[in-house]
Amino acid sequence: MSSPSLSVHESNDCEDDFRKIVEEVNDLYGDINVDESLSLDDVEVRVFEAFRSLEQKFLEMCVSKKAGKKESEPVECPECPAPCRPLRKRAKHLTTLCGKISPRRWVYCCEHGHRHAPWEVKQKLSDQYTHRVAEAMCRLSARLDYREASEELSHQGIEVSHTRLHQSVCKWSEDLDVREQVEAQELKENQRWYVSCDGCHTNSPDGWKEVKVGCIYRDYPQPVSGGTPSVRTESIRYVAGRQNAAAFGKKLYALALKSGIYQKDINTQVIVFIGDGAAWIWNLCKEYFPNAVQIVDYPHAVSHLSDVAKLVFEETETELFEAWIKETECFLHDGNIAEVASSIRALATQHPEVSESLEREARYFEKHANRMQSKAFREKGYMIGSGVIESACKHVVGERCPQAAMRWKKPGINAVLKWRCLSKNKAWDRYWYPNTKAA
Ligand SMILES: [Zn+2]
Repeated sequence: MSSPSLSVHESNDCEDDFRKIVEEVNDLYGDINVDESLSLDDVEVRVFEAFRSLEQKFLEMCVSKKAGKKESEPVECPECPAPCRPLRKRAKHLTTLCGKISPRRWVYCCEHGHRHAPWEVKQKLSDQYTHRVAEAMCRLSARLDYREASEELSHQGIEVSHTRLHQSVCKWSEDLDVREQVEAQELKENQRWYVSCDGCHTNSPDGWKEVKVGCIYRDYPQPVSGGTPSVRTESIRYVAGRQNAAAFGKKLYALALKSGIYQKDINTQVIVFIGDGAAWIWNLCKEYFPNAVQIVDYPHAVSHLSDVAKLVFEETETELFEAWIKETECFLHDGNIAEVASSIRALATQHPEVSESLEREARYFEKHANRMQSKAFREKGYMIGSGVIESACKHVVGERCPQAAMRWKKPGINAVLKWRCLSKNKAWDRYWYPNTKAA
């Protein structure tokens, strides 16, 4: 086939296709009008199905016209790079928002036999999916398990198996850098940066594994008036992954930098770092946020008091149990950690059988004494609880990952967590639609 006759032939083809589409709409309208028995539901289904099929035909027609043109400029081989000549037109199977289409595009070939389709390269296709379909695949897979996501897509006329979803979502996540997508933000007056980390568990083929979660946020300080100051959080950014502390630390730090944490002089701004007792968390704080105010999550410290009480009081001794916690928590509340430790040690003299465990608990409090200055922290209006990170563990990881029968492999869980963080960081559109106004 020589190209001039082909292009004439092709344009006739398109006109024919277009005429057929118009005829189909006409016929549908006629059919619906003639049949008096059709209910609203019947008409709705007839119109919906007919137009879905028309969308697909129309899109294929429009795309074929564009894809079927030869390149106007000389084409270089992307592999060698020798000049290429057009070889033949081949169908490209594509899954689109309007269904599957197979436009025919030119395949070019160089003298070394390397073949490529320049039209396809220009479209930046994600395998056989359009950009919109790839976005929908990732969006639904971030929220739902792959089977549910596959069913939802099917309702939208997009047929992708759950295994295919899994593979694609993992593959496309490799180039995704969540922290690159967030916008830097300035601190307003009296605001502070907060950094917080925690671990939570998800199942894998080799048992339960820790997923690390971190978040960066700012506060809305409220005036302190005697009682507990109410502090609100603003623009929380998340990072999460099943990885070691060193790799995670780098990611968290990069997210913090991108968020704007060190855009001002490092010594003039307040950074508050909240964590539980885990050693990796404080090592990470020391490495990346050395000037941060370090705070042990208050409810976490209280839970240690309850662990102590469980060691020494019987289940029937509810009153004693509660009285001891109440009394000791007052010391903790005031930041009087020496008193907390001596209350624990006082129990050890009455309960020598658990004295080792009690000593360990007393040392836990002493070790973190500077991080438990609750009174001083409250007076400065700092948050002392890690509610934000706890809730992050729930909604970034918990709602998608540790569900029944899910056994995550590392690449799979990290892929889903990346997409979830992208979405929770409100950076989804920046990544998928960087050139649109809203992004
Ligand atoms: Zn070549």
